[in-house]
Amino acid sequence: MEDIMASYTISCSMDEIEKMKKTYQPHLVTPPNGAVFSAKLPGAVITAYHSGKVLFQGKNPSAEWKKWEGQPLNSQNSSKKPERAPHHYLPSDSLFTADHIGSDESGTGDYFGPITVASAYVTKEQIPLLKEIGIADSKKLTDEKIKLLSQQLMQIQIPYALLVLHNEKYNKLQAQGWSQGKMKTMLHHHAIQILLKKIAGSSYDGILIDQFCEPHVYQKHLRSEHTTLPAKTFFRTKAEDYSLAVAAASILARVSFINEMDKLSEKLGFPLLKGASKQVDQLAAKIIKNKGITTLQQCAKVHFANTEKAKNYLT
Ligand code: MG
Repeated sequence: MEDIMASYTISCSMDEIEKMKKTYQPHLVTPPNGAVFSAKLPGAVITAYHSGKVLFQGKNPSAEWKKWEGQPLNSQNSSKKPERAPHHYLPSDSLFTADHIGSDESGTGDYFGPITVASAYVTKEQIPLLKEIGIADSKKLTDEKIKLLSQQLMQIQIPYALLVLHNEKYNKLQAQGWSQGKMKTMLHHHAIQILLKKIAGSSYDGILIDQFCEPHVYQKHLRSEHTTLPAKTFFRTKAEDYSLAVAAASILARVSFINEMDKLSEKLGFPLLKGASKQVDQLAAKIIKNKGITTLQQCAKVHFANTEKAKNYLT
């Protein structure tokens, strides 16, 4: 059983429970006796019962609970719509089998290396082939498999746009007050704009962004740079599990991140590590000691806590 540290409940109609079950479809696990469904997410276990009671438990269940507790449970009180409900931007399932654009990023949680963002366009005719060759969420694949699949995407000639935010520029924007969320937003936005130009004239039912923040926050970032959301833009968390375009984008972004890490490693003369672990702190300390802080700024996201931790190894 989970290490339960917090617990919330709400009461729902069966329709609402069915809707929740659909939303958590990729996370469903065998439900306990008497339960309609049980879903396991990082930090939260959600269990819905035939009584209409839905239980949110785990280390951090409040984010999931908040998504539902403010929702109108039936049409009578639909006037009090929650401000942050992303449903307006949730794509319908039909998008996943239609011509569409997908967008995803890589490197955001890695201390070393850039952020890469890719947008890819797939037609409905290409979808079965993409499925067949094994295009899937890059997080579930090895680096070798990712490289192979990206070569296959090149052969199929999937139109795409790829952007790399190198560490120097990243650190500069960060120092100017840009959040990582704003950087990601503008990278996705520009990648999509480039791709839309490339495929000008081709039809598409929508643009699907693998959701990393609430759609209204994404739009706030766009407004701060005097631009707006293109028509037919949708957001969905775990979009790569539903959309082959997003999955293809996740592979293209990841392969670019891997290649950039290889280039940086070669330049430094030793291999950089992915992630943000204690080994990463130690490697950062080694770089500061042997090459200086300027070199670190060229290969790391220096505002991460790893930099301070690295400095502790130097004293
Ligand atoms: Mg993503």
